[in-house]
Amino acid sequence: MSDIEIAQQAQMRPIIDLAGDRLGIPAQHLDPYGHYKAKLSLDYIRSLNDRPDGKLILVTAISPTPAGEGKTTTTVGLGDALNRIGKKAIMCLREPSLGPCFGVKGGAAGGGYAQVVPMEDINLHFTGDFHAIGVAHNLLAAMIDNHITHGNELHIDPRRVQWKRVVDMNDRALRKIVIGMGGPGNGYAREDGFDIVVASEVMAILCLASGIEDLKERLGRIVIGYKADGKTPIYARDLKAHGAMAALLKDAIKPNLVQTLENNLAIIHGGPFANIAHGCNTVMATKTALKLADYVVTEAGFGADLGAEKFIDIKCRMAGLEPAAVVLVATLRALKFHGGVKKEDLNQENLAALETGFANLEKHVRNIQTHYHLPCVVSINHFTFDTEAEIELLRRKCESLGVKVVLAQHWAHGGAGAEDLAHAVADIVDNAPGRHQFVYDGGLSLCEKIEAVATKIYGAGSVSYEGKVREQLNAWNAEYGQFPVCMAKTQMSFSTDATVRGAPTGHNIHIREVRLASGAGFVVAIAGDMMTMPGLPKIPAAEHIDVDGNGRISGLF
Ligand code: ADP
Ligand code: MG
Repeated sequence: MSDIEIAQQAQMRPIIDLAGDRLGIPAQHLDPYGHYKAKLSLDYIRSLNDRPDGKLILVTAISPTPAGEGKTTTTVGLGDALNRIGKKAIMCLREPSLGPCFGVKGGAAGGGYAQVVPMEDINLHFTGDFHAIGVAHNLLAAMIDNHITHGNELHIDPRRVQWKRVVDMNDRALRKIVIGMGGPGNGYAREDGFDIVVASEVMAILCLASGIEDLKERLGRIVIGYKADGKTPIYARDLKAHGAMAALLKDAIKPNLVQTLENNLAIIHGGPFANIAHGCNTVMATKTALKLADYVVTEAGFGADLGAEKFIDIKCRMAGLEPAAVVLVATLRALKFHGGVKKEDLNQENLAALETGFANLEKHVRNIQTHYHLPCVVSINHFTFDTEAEIELLRRKCESLGVKVVLAQHWAHGGAGAEDLAHAVADIVDNAPGRHQFVYDGGLSLCEKIEAVATKIYGAGSVSYEGKVREQLNAWNAEYGQFPVCMAKTQMSFSTDATVRGAPTGHNIHIREVRLASGAGFVVAIAGDMMTMPGLPKIPAAEHIDVDGNGRISGLF
């Protein structure tokens, strides 16, 4: 059965009843969006302040293959399994981006018997958060060009506007465009472009904001471009745009409550890109979940070199969160891939390749233990074609590293398939929770921060900078030196070359470009080509998506 067919057979309970029964949330504090989705009120969230926090568990992965290794699926499976063994657990996930659903990757609501539902809604329009974020972003864009047209009192240099437009669709034709064509009545003609909504700084801001006041303050701090000197920044607050932008986001900032196939509660909220942004669900959602449950399972984007690093150095640092343990998802196929096996041969047993590819897992485990300073459990996401001999070999290799390893079969069996994982995680969290360390100190310079991540986490030997990039970073140190850095590089490799597998060492990390995300509060360091507006493949998934006369969707993976 496909993911959507399994999801459509779910016996969902009305979310208001479920939230009342399981968490005691009074109905008046839930804004229902239909029967199976609801937003939590800000009043209610505030009322939880004095409660103790539950334990935070981060799910991350080895360097993935393009298919994804099952972080979301594992997050859901582990959450269901914790509830099965009698623990009170909630999952915190990101909202999927709409555009990629029509491309290659497929959904982001889990898979098999470890899914959140209603999956069609979650993958498509959900509660409209991304729409609101897109409109708030585009309001600022419209106000910039409007300001230029009406005399440009702020002296915005039209050639130095950094604020593009956004749309939630994979549409490569919009990457670079010219706007304002057709004469003076249509404004100033200038070069512009579109990013996908999840790449918007407004998304990153919403995900890091602690509430509406902080959201507004951060929106005001967005640098939209520069004056003709190329140095003097112009902020969104100079255009008086931040109040209206925040007004558009007043509902989007409220966390969304849904359920899993097994009727456990999950909060799905926010979804920033994992490359040019930090790739985690909202701080509001995570903090709320910690007040509502004893165990909160959450996912960070990409592999543990990117998602987990940013989770700790950006999200935990800004929000004061303290993760207790990390689950590192590994698949045999990805390990064989790192051992040099071709994509089409990954389903065949290959112990030698597994042995070689293990280097990738080993480096991630060492990073988690040494640099993030957190206890770690390796969770093997079981695929039907995995062989006994391969599983045994991986177990032995992990044990020789001294790291706990469990086989998890939630994809095939739901929470029941991940009970071993739940016991292993609960054991650590209850008896020996970690105390994380940051990879770098907040007081280091921006270049030193980049170099710390590159050498410690990526195993690099050096960092180089394109043209004036180092100069730019040094200039930002004065005002933005306290910011963490948000590294943007391929998720496929510890290096900046997606084809280099395993665990390379001594390589150079070349920083091609840096961007200031002053509202979000980080500096993006781009190593390699970073796509902020994806395209669709030759045969997009959209060709197979359909809806029948009763509104029932098919083909959504
Ligand atoms: P990630 O969050 O790491 O990107 P997902 O959990 O979203 O990965 O899984 C990616 C895709 O792989 C999903 O479509 C999911 O259904 C599928 N998948 C995950 N685990 C398994 C498994 N054990 N067997 C088969 N398919 C799986
Ligand atoms: Mg995922």
